Amino acid sequence: MNIALVGVGKIALDQHVPAIAASPDWDLTATVSRQGSVDGVESFSDFTKFLEQRPDIRVVSLCLPPVPRFDYAEAAIRAGRHVMLEKPPGASLAECRKLAAMANDFRVTLFATWHSREATMVEPAKEWLTGKVLKRLTVTWKEDVRRWHPGQDWIWEPGGLGVFDPGINALSIVTRLMPETLHLTDAVLETPENKQGPIAAHLRFAHPDGADVSAVFDWRQEGDQTWRIEAETDHGTLTLEDGGARMIVNGTEQKAAKDTLSGEYPRLYARMARLLATGESDVDLEPLRHVADAFLLGRREVVAPFFE
Ligand code: NAP
Repeated sequence: MNIALVGVGKIALDQHVPAIAASPDWDLTATVSRQGSVDGVESFSDFTKFLEQRPDIRVVSLCLPPVPRFDYAEAAIRAGRHVMLEKPPGASLAECRKLAAMANDFRVTLFATWHSREATMVEPAKEWLTGKVLKRLTVTWKEDVRRWHPGQDWIWEPGGLGVFDPGINALSIVTRLMPETLHLTDAVLETPENKQGPIAAHLRFAHPDGADVSAVFDWRQEGDQTWRIEAETDHGTLTLEDGGARMIVNGTEQKAAKDTLSGEYPRLYARMARLLATGESDVDLEPLRHVADAFLLGRREVVAPFFE
């Protein structure tokens, strides 16, 4: 199937282009970006012209930052295109809900992707946790913003989510692992005095059976990076490390099952092909709901200014 990538920046080049190139399902047939392009692929700088001139390309994958993405998604759905959204699916819950309703009305597939849910050990972790009594779940997501988001001013602006841009990846895994509905009860948002978005966040959640659930996200970690989810249960402790790539149960590293398809983004594109085949959409807004609640309930603490 033909597909177009829209917003050719860091994630499009790092992950989407190689995942599409390796996929048996997809041909990257066009890009739409004001400055970016991919060698050997027809490029457009104007999305409206693309929609008019390439009606044969039925699927678009939107890799723009969250704030500008809504207008593109809306235009694509109105033009009858199937749409993949990078995470987070939008800058607000309301606009995501509107897109989901439009996709239904226009009978197109909308896939709000959560790449971290496709990490190798997330499903095995979900299986291991099923039927066990959770006592504590602690998320530690600490990385170096200078390393992962160089020059990305949008990430500090309203709608850019600040440290929740990576933190929502952890929340996407947690909401996949735990069928129980958590709700946020308390948040502290450490916000540099010269920025709109937080550089660190501390979250607490209520769990229906009283488990102690908390998360800390921090963008100031240099050196080794930490993307860890630790779940203490009545049968011992499961730890997901490296964003879900590794799983340790009671101190023993678990082996991944043999998987013909490896990698978060190849799995996302395979899933989009399956959704198209069945005519379904997949728009789960739970991770974004927790982020929205953190911005609603969070106490803001002003911290030292941040300079890249
Ligand atoms: P990026 O490189 O800063 O932006 C992607 C592209 O979007 C830019 O190259 C730009 O292309 C276009 N763009 C930026 N602002 C725009 C605007 N106001 N209007 C129209 N187009 C605009 O960002 P990114 O790191 O790829 O992230 C994009 C999305 O992927 C985010 O939602 C992020 O959370 C997600 N993501 C990022 C990473 C990562 O490691 N960076 C990992 C996973 C997911 P043109 O200037 O050529 O139009």
